[in-house]
Amino acid sequence: MAKSKFEYVRGFEADDALLPNCWIVVRLDGRNFHRFAEQHEFKKPNDDRALHLMTKCAQTVMQELEDIAIAYGQSDEYSFVFKKKSKWFKRRASKFMTHVVSQFASSYVFYWKDYFKDQQLLYPPGFDGRIVLYPSDQNLKDYLSWRQADCHINNLYNTVFWMLVQRSGLTPVQAQDRLQGTLAGDKNEILFSEFNINYNNEPLMYRKGTVLIWQKVNEVITKKIKLPKETEEKEVEVTRTRTKVVPLHCDIIGDQFWEEYPEILAE
Ligand code: ATP
Ligand code: ATP
Ligand code: MG
Ligand code: MG
Ligand code: MG
Ligand code: MG
Repeated sequence: MAKSKFEYVRGFEADDALLPNCWIVVRLDGRNFHRFAEQHEFKKPNDDRALHLMTKCAQTVMQELEDIAIAYGQSDEYSFVFKKKSKWFKRRASKFMTHVVSQFASSYVFYWKDYFKDQQLLYPPGFDGRIVLYPSDQNLKDYLSWRQADCHINNLYNTVFWMLVQRSGLTPVQAQDRLQGTLAGDKNEILFSEFNINYNNEPLMYRKGTVLIWQKVNEVITKKIKLPKETEEKEVEVTRTRTKVVPLHCDIIGDQFWEEYPEILAE
């Protein structure tokens, strides 16, 4: 096809191909979700509806886009890890980031009502995105460990904070003052002695966040088949294997997870 005289403007586009052989991490985060959570009456410190909706959106991203090996989410953020060898969109950074974030954001609105039932969505939420490259498997594991450690630190703080506010009637400022300078052990102690809560018994989803991986699952479906020589269709049960995105709420900081699922880092 003949080129127009305007064609030269394409030359102004920046080359944003990502370095080969590196893990590509796209992390997104809800814009101003402190306010979004308040306006939509999120239960504090953890609203299950919101966490499950985030995970539904992340599953959609993994199923719709190519080459995502694992994802990790907590609070209003999700990280997606693309395979080192991915050739998707010639590894153009802008394509990776915009496809992830827009697919996630539209899913958030699309699936909202399935999770929030009577709670109306009051305005369109937005998400920011960033890309980070990790050249070694250890760097990638450390990245994911960093996000899970962040989940733990925030959740421990928030759990005590909201107990002090909701159960002891402290104002947010008083609760903040009370927790100023406390270590993890102190927070565990406040939870145990004042609220009879053993932090280790809090739900895993709150303490560990959500890991999404691909797993083979066997599905039994009924199929109608017509045998040669017979006129009527017969229903038979067949088992087929499918790969599905499965949520886990487990530790990913220790070695055990990576020993159990070596295929994640395999290619
Ligand atoms: P920014 O635009 O800079 O990201 P932000 O207000 O979104 O600002 P974050 O550090 O991302 O700041 O914090 C997310 C906020 O959303 C926190 O205040 C957190 O309490 C709230 N939030 C997110 N998910 C939930 C949830 N499932 N339950 C309760 N609160 C939540
Ligand atoms: P890609 O993911 O590479 O962008 P694409 O299918 O979106 O693939 P485009 O080159 O962006 O490819 O083309 C957009 C397509 O959407 C065209 O086929 C066009 O016919 C169709 N389309 C977009 N807007 C309209 C519209 N308003 N009316 C009819 N068709 C439309
Ligand atoms: Mg922030
Ligand atoms: Mg945010
Ligand atoms: Mg956040
Ligand atoms: Mg298009």
